[in-house]
Amino acid sequence: EIQTYRIENPATGVFEKEFDSTSDADVRAAVERAHAAFDTWRRESAQTRADAMKRVADAYDERADELARTIATEMGKPLTEAKGEVELAGSIFRWYGEHGPALLEEEKLDIGDEASSVVVTDPIGVLMGVMPWNFPHYQVARFAAPNLMLGNTILLKHASICGSSAVFIEEILHAAGVPEDAYINLFVSNDQVTSIIEDSRVRGVSLTGSEGAGIAVAETAAKNLKMSVLELGGSDPLIVLDDVDVAATAEAVAKARMSNAGQACNSPKRIFVPQAMFAEFTDVVVTTVGELKVGDPLDQATEMGPLSSIEARDGVVEQVRKAVSEGATLRAGGDALDKDGAWMAPTVITGVTSEMDAYAEEIFGPVAMIFPYSSVDEAVRVANDSSFGLSGSVWAKDVEKAEEIARRLEVGMTYVNEHGTTKAGLPFGGVRRSGYGRELGRWGFTEFANPKLVRVA
Ligand code: NDP
Repeated sequence: EIQTYRIENPATGVFEKEFDSTSDADVRAAVERAHAAFDTWRRESAQTRADAMKRVADAYDERADELARTIATEMGKPLTEAKGEVELAGSIFRWYGEHGPALLEEEKLDIGDEASSVVVTDPIGVLMGVMPWNFPHYQVARFAAPNLMLGNTILLKHASICGSSAVFIEEILHAAGVPEDAYINLFVSNDQVTSIIEDSRVRGVSLTGSEGAGIAVAETAAKNLKMSVLELGGSDPLIVLDDVDVAATAEAVAKARMSNAGQACNSPKRIFVPQAMFAEFTDVVVTTVGELKVGDPLDQATEMGPLSSIEARDGVVEQVRKAVSEGATLRAGGDALDKDGAWMAPTVITGVTSEMDAYAEEIFGPVAMIFPYSSVDEAVRVANDSSFGLSGSVWAKDVEKAEEIARRLEVGMTYVNEHGTTKAGLPFGGVRRSGYGRELGRWGFTEFANPKLVRVA
């Protein structure tokens, strides 16, 4: 199967740009180049690599506008959100530039014997990264920054609709002093990704994307005894307690769900509200999403853009249609907008039961699903009744109580009075079918590291 790297502006449906696929011969050469570069990049001082990471961060700051515009044109995210993403990506490079040297300091172990036991953090070699379109820069940053800081080298396959961002990232890294062969962008097919993972010089693979892609990549990695990190989907629960300001909370929650047109792995896809406030809360969510400014991503005032592609949009509309045909209640939206591009109305559904696909599936689009609950225990039980386990949040005035409930969620990240906050120093990742491994902070620094024991008797 041939993948073509092609940008069709999801806001207009108009073809923008196409990129040549990387040939098999160029793929083989890239693996060899990245392997050879590993030998020198790992031997640079930690400070040299850290300085390069800081220069990448500076470039992100300086070029924020053009980077954000590219994102908006490729995958439809509103400019204001795209700028936030670019800033976040830059902050990740800066964080590793600032903390990398300390994270690389060796650790002397005192185990009560006479010998000297030291653990050093070594890089492991060439890594393959497979990244998605929903946050074209942030997703790459959280894989590339820690691993380049560590001394690993990278081959990167970006989503086929993100060719321009992919080229931009490579250009910024090289201009900042990352050697050309230490980070190589590839426009490759899934089969070529398989052959790269199989190559003995490649030591690990990190993928963010769908379960299907994760399974394919992890299977090849396992057969070849390679490390993998997977950041897959989610159907995050958000539990509202009965002491909140209903209107303010419902508005904040509605906006959180519609952010990035709902296309985030950690978007609050299942919203649980006490039975007594369900009607009022749902009304405010319906009003809020109805008032969102849906339009041109390049317009500063836009609050929601199109979905990433017409196929993605059609899939989400179909999920909603099926739920409604099975008895769910459509409270807002539910359909494509009647214009060119990948537009969909912000949608609210209620009455989803455990027999419906929508109960268990991830809905990767602008669809708020609201469930009433009669006791907190019931809310926690249903929240945890998911094949996913990425993140979850609890909203309340009584933050102590909320924290106690948040700690009962079987997920990788929990929050009180916010949902899905991601920052360079905080761990990111999930359990169950949301994947395994962690990104960001010191956790993301050790996934593809060799904590090597050096013992002298
Ligand atoms: P994919 O998982 O298909 O895309 C993510 C990346 O994986 C892309 O670079 C893609 O390449 C690549 N890929 C896909 N299949 C394979 C494979 N067999 N071997 C190697 N690489 C592969 O996501 P979609 O764009 O299809 O989105 C569909 C669903 O994925 C969403 O509904 C959502 O559930 C999930 N998703 C989750 C994200 C997250 O943040 N966790 C982000 C994006 C999607 P290519 O683009 O060339 O197909």
